[in-house]
Amino acid sequence: MKCPFCAHPDSKVVDSRPDKGGAAIRRRRECESCAKRFTTHERIEETLPLVLKKDGRREPFDRMKIIGGILKACEKRQVSRETIDRLVDRLEGRLQEWSEKEVPSTTIGEWVMTEIHDIDEVAYVRFASVYRSFKDVNEFMVELQDLLKK
Ligand SMILES: [Zn+2]
Repeated sequence: MKCPFCAHPDSKVVDSRPDKGGAAIRRRRECESCAKRFTTHERIEETLPLVLKKDGRREPFDRMKIIGGILKACEKRQVSRETIDRLVDRLEGRLQEWSEKEVPSTTIGEWVMTEIHDIDEVAYVRFASVYRSFKDVNEFMVELQDLLKK
């Protein structure tokens, strides 16, 4: 793990503890060159299923991509970055519990929508409009009407 201060390639672990209910490991490291300390969060990514896209391709779950999409949907809304991080943590938790080797991207989309719906309704409509546009406009309108009824 490269030192963020001097870019020295070697560091030693001075402390290590499970993070986020065991899904990640938080390590305190000390640079072997400048002796400054920094923290790393290591995730156990190989346990996550591959994402099966609509065109049949498979790709690894990309946390940053999901966060990017949610950030866009939450633009100018009162949603903190921490709330979004926790949302994606929950998403990763569900992926870890997924029993198959592949998970359809549509399933992840549904999970994200359910989560956003609980957080911010405007962000939900934005996210849903982008997401549903790939499927069926009518479906989106039904979704929107359900939302307006509430
Ligand atoms: Zn250093």
